[in-house]
Amino acid sequence: MQKGKINVQTENIFPIIKKFLYSDHEIFLRELISNAVDATQKLRTLASVGDFKGEVGDARIEVKIDKKAKTLTVSDHGIGMTGEEVEQYINQIAFSSAEEWINKYKGKDVSQVIGHFGLGFYSSFMVASKVELHSKSYKKNSKGVKWTCDGSPEFTLEEKPRKTRGTDVVLHIADDSAEFLEEDRVHGLLKKYCKFLPVEIVFGTEEETVKEKDEKGEEKEVRITKPRVINNTKPAWTQRPNDLKEEDYKNFYRELYPLTFDEPLFNIHLNVDFPFTLTGILYFPKVKQNFEVQRDKIQLYSNQVFVTDSVEGIVPDFLTLLHGVLDSPDIPLNVSRSFLQSDNNVKKISAHITKKVADKLEDIFNEKREEFESKWDDIKIFIEYGMISDDKFRERAKKFCLLKNTDGKFFTLDEYRDHIKTQQTDKDKKVIHIYTSNKEEQHAFVEAAKEKGYDVLILDTPIDSHFVNMLETELENASFVRVDAEVADKLINKDDELPSKLSQEQKDKLKPILEKHLDVKQYQVAFENLSESEQPMMITQPEFMRRMKDMSALGGMNYMGNLPNSYMLVVNSNHRLIGSLLNEENEELRDKQVKQLIDLALLAKNLLKGENLTRFVQRSVDLFNC
Ligand code: ADP
Repeated sequence: MQKGKINVQTENIFPIIKKFLYSDHEIFLRELISNAVDATQKLRTLASVGDFKGEVGDARIEVKIDKKAKTLTVSDHGIGMTGEEVEQYINQIAFSSAEEWINKYKGKDVSQVIGHFGLGFYSSFMVASKVELHSKSYKKNSKGVKWTCDGSPEFTLEEKPRKTRGTDVVLHIADDSAEFLEEDRVHGLLKKYCKFLPVEIVFGTEEETVKEKDEKGEEKEVRITKPRVINNTKPAWTQRPNDLKEEDYKNFYRELYPLTFDEPLFNIHLNVDFPFTLTGILYFPKVKQNFEVQRDKIQLYSNQVFVTDSVEGIVPDFLTLLHGVLDSPDIPLNVSRSFLQSDNNVKKISAHITKKVADKLEDIFNEKREEFESKWDDIKIFIEYGMISDDKFRERAKKFCLLKNTDGKFFTLDEYRDHIKTQQTDKDKKVIHIYTSNKEEQHAFVEAAKEKGYDVLILDTPIDSHFVNMLETELENASFVRVDAEVADKLINKDDELPSKLSQEQKDKLKPILEKHLDVKQYQVAFENLSESEQPMMITQPEFMRRMKDMSALGGMNYMGNLPNSYMLVVNSNHRLIGSLLNEENEELRDKQVKQLIDLALLAKNLLKGENLTRFVQRSVDLFNC
């Protein structure tokens, strides 16, 4: 037996390994299984080029736990190692890389480090008090070897006869890591990290019902116990797009997100060889209003080994709303996030993904516009978000970004301009785009605008305030106003420059009577000469202020959120009821009427709430009794 000391300067490296990776102990299993997969793949490659003439045979990797012996074992039938190789790869190289890693991240925030690749085999000491490695190389006349190490830099290496080719790594699980002897815990980890590894991973057994023929030749159902295979070795993204049907993509989506009931809208199969390697499938999910919960659904793999589902910094922010899988050995995995964001490979990958996504959307738009339109409501928030946050995407998306009006018709930005150009310009010759953020709540305003022949767009996502701001800068001479905004009101009613039925003196008299019932910090009174058939009073809001407040509600500009709301109470000077208010001599009755008219205007704008609403209902009932 050979005894020795691992080639290492730091005496106590194991406690350091343990401490450094405290939050991430579980990755030891990923590391050991990755090594087993590599060893198996190497043997397959050797066999395929003729350098290994024997039988590859059962290539499965098996994970076993023995609660009594307190061991967890990973076994493979890969290329194995000779004694010299153990000395070289395990004692020298592996350890020096572990040591290098530790030195590099000493004193740094390790939680920032994802994918601790490179630490490899030695990460087993995060959970084991002693590690045994039994191996036999594929090479002719190899003898079995046994290597042990108890967590100190001392190891033993001895010859130990072994029948089968391959490697068993036996971890004697430390007392503080007993969780890794629990079947459920280990099964969960295997499902997390190994779900799509290219070699079958077996853990425990499962029961299955199969049909068998008995002695009489009659078919009957029997329960059999068979090894439980954890993974799908050929996930869809590793196959050629030409070999896959729409249904295969959908099935893979279900495999990735078994708890999601919605079908994806469409998918993008990525397949790049140069200048970096990247494969994957991205799905457009049905986006929910609360899209924060949709984030972090993209899983990142490196050669089919799960690395993380937090792809921030690797794909542009707006793409984190997509679902699916990215697999690239070129993404550096053992570095901090800030490093990742400035890494050139990552930047190229990110730009490439953006381009591919834009390509796909443009293709569907050009080739199947109807389908594109039918999915628009589900994908618009994603496209709008992309256009707001990513210059390159914005340039591409201008061609296929759609606007939908209240009649359900779709237009590109250019088409819409042509559609409304002639009728909707303001005094500065800006083309006015009137929109509603809620067709139901702003119903009266939408109806009024449409009656006058104006087109009204539906812009109802939570980020639409940002979106219209962006469009106003992007499109020449364009202005967006919400249908209940002051400007929209002026535009819609501009034909009605009728003479006023009220004199200035009468308006001056009426104004304080109205203000008595208004919170003047929020509401300003303005008289307009509308037609008699219009409402006597309505509430409008300056577009700019409202939009800024909406935007601050989404975050970013908190000071705006604190400002009071600002509304206009527009009084139709020509309405019969307004005139009769002035003539009403019974002050009590007049106040009641004023309140009623103001409340009706508030109600139309969904601003009448709580106690005021209750009083309004009561007052309305009283009016019947008059
Ligand atoms: P890495 O896998 O990043 O090279 P490791 O520390 O995990 O680093 O492993 C060091 C080396 O030990 C591997 O490169 C490989 O040559 C050898 N090795 C580890 N596990 C096995 C195994 N199960 N079968 C064959 N060789 C192995």
